[in-house]
Amino acid sequence: MFDNPSFDHHEGVHFFSDEASGLKAVIAIHSTALGPSSGGTRMWDYADSKAMVTDVLRLSQGMSYKNAMASIPHGGGKAVIWGNSKTGKSEALFRAFGRAVESLQGRYWTAEDVGIDTADIEIAAKETRYAAGLTTGVAASGDPSPVTALGVFKGIQQTAMRAFGSDDLNGKTVAVQGVGSVGGYTALHLAEAGANLMITDIDQDALADISKRTGAKIVAPDEIYDVEADIFSPNALGAIINQDTLKRLKVKAIAGGANNQLSVPAMGEFVRRAGILYAPDYVINGGGIINVAAEISGDYSRHWVDQKLDTLIETLGSVLDDSLSSDRPTNEVADEIARARIAAAKA
Ligand code: NAD
Repeated sequence: MFDNPSFDHHEGVHFFSDEASGLKAVIAIHSTALGPSSGGTRMWDYADSKAMVTDVLRLSQGMSYKNAMASIPHGGGKAVIWGNSKTGKSEALFRAFGRAVESLQGRYWTAEDVGIDTADIEIAAKETRYAAGLTTGVAASGDPSPVTALGVFKGIQQTAMRAFGSDDLNGKTVAVQGVGSVGGYTALHLAEAGANLMITDIDQDALADISKRTGAKIVAPDEIYDVEADIFSPNALGAIINQDTLKRLKVKAIAGGANNQLSVPAMGEFVRRAGILYAPDYVINGGGIINVAAEISGDYSRHWVDQKLDTLIETLGSVLDDSLSSDRPTNEVADEIARARIAAAKA
């Protein structure tokens, strides 16, 4: 654990197993300096436990930075469940997971992420007070994905403004990788704004649905990096910006909702040198966690969420401007601001 390159002085990394339900889960709390940690739960069929631990370490650190940039009173945490999200779910599994979350006594709040939907979190919530993204209850806010996607869409406009001199997406071609919850809603916003879409996914039903609703052209998963487009919007999994894919991309901007898009932070500089403007993932995709924070506060207000989202998108604009004026990669500029905010809270 302590030798894992993704370990970053995490406050706690908690392993849970439940023999009866088959649950194998890890909850990583990166920091509680700004408040109780919060971040979604991911269900994924990892190759091995090392891959699982690396994922949760990176994701929880990302949540610390994301929550700091979104100016919400939360630190960063994340949970991962090892299993196939299509075939491995059960009531017993999510109840056991809920008990795991409850055992941390509020140091970690959970919600949805890849492979997890509101129904799963509703089951976990039978066992824990520390679950959000619910559809029922005093401050229930439901699936955070539409708010994440709205932020991603507004973030794409901010990025376009700097990359093309206008935030008008009419006639721009956007290559969208992943049309699940976030990518799907983002594609709908983009189509409404007049963008031409090229979409890919490994889920044929999701692809057919979004293509029908937006007129998007479908391309094979591996072809999305090679298409002639203005903007690449990754909304599936992480580490998709690497030396191999960067060589293939013909876009002028990368802006999407997926977490941990850069294979390693140093890729930010290679992206910059390639003349591509990259919207740091944890800044552009903070809408969902703002929505979750509103629910956790116990007094959900859509007005508060919209104000926070607009502030976040302004912050994204400042990060992009700082980066362009100082010739530094956007992720480095964002990391610096996030770390400073966390350090100030610790102090
Ligand atoms: P989701 O499971 O609903 O959607 C992910 C989609 O990606 C699925 O349709 C899946 O089939 C597709 N996919 C998987 N592998 C692929 C591949 N190799 N090529 C193309 N498509 C592939 O998840 P989501 O909630 O939409 O999350 C998407 C990304 O956004 C994740 O990285 C997640 O961490 C991040 N994110 C989500 C939220 C949120 O509010 N849901 C908030 C912040 C960040």
